[in-house]
Amino acid sequence: MRFDIMTLFPDLVTQVLAESIIGRAQKSGAIEVFAHNIRDYSEDKHRRVDDTPYGGGMGMLMAAPPIVNCFEAICKMQSPEVRRRVIYMSPRGKIFDHAAAKRFAEYDDLVILCGHYEGVDARVLDLIVDEEVSIGDFVLTGGELPACIVTDAVARLCPGVLADDECYEKESIASGLLEYPQYTRPYEYRGLTVPDVLISGHHENIDKWRLAQSVAVTRENRPDLFAAWESRADDGGKEKSKT
Ligand code: SAM
Repeated sequence: MRFDIMTLFPDLVTQVLAESIIGRAQKSGAIEVFAHNIRDYSEDKHRRVDDTPYGGGMGMLMAAPPIVNCFEAICKMQSPEVRRRVIYMSPRGKIFDHAAAKRFAEYDDLVILCGHYEGVDARVLDLIVDEEVSIGDFVLTGGELPACIVTDAVARLCPGVLADDECYEKESIASGLLEYPQYTRPYEYRGLTVPDVLISGHHENIDKWRLAQSVAVTRENRPDLFAAWESRADDGGKEKSKT
């Protein structure tokens, strides 16, 4: 899968995404990430990309032409048959979640537009954007960190990025519940020991303990997820979610 990130600060995204698992996934060819500098597509001799909003108001707005030019250049780099989704990172969007990550992972190319300042000219949304996506009910200074978050969450669902699909299927959210507590060596640390069941070697009991822990933490921290998980009990959801 390919990610095309349109931004005024390409170094911000390339540096974040060059590290760790996502960096390795790029090196192995499991995913490709390209950060495009919108400023390179400005038609203005001073390479301006923003202007004041019509009707007045605070701040500057990113103008449409450089963004649309940048998008058209991205399209020209690829075959016309490419299955593409274009998203704009925006606090006005629907909140990003695991279902959205799965949906985006179905495409060949995810184009992510990062806003800055007061955002982008609304005609950009009409012309090239399929959907606005928010990472939460707060406002950041730019869309670069949200774009990295979406890229990371989608990339780890792509074949070859994680060692095993089970890695994400059994994790918090994807499984329908939050994850149970996990421990590694040493057995005792500052007076705290690992729960006996985990060193019992009894896999059925370990599974039962983990499920009970998952249920408890989900009920406490995310009553919305817990209610959804409970309501799936009738159609076997609880069995499916067992970890
Ligand atoms: N004036 C905009 C509004 O009220 O909706 C906010 C603009 S914000 C200061 C600048 C840019 O940061 C946005 O265009 C967007 O790309 C990004 N951004 C800020 N908060 C975000 C969030 N919660 N989710 C996704 N992107 C966000």
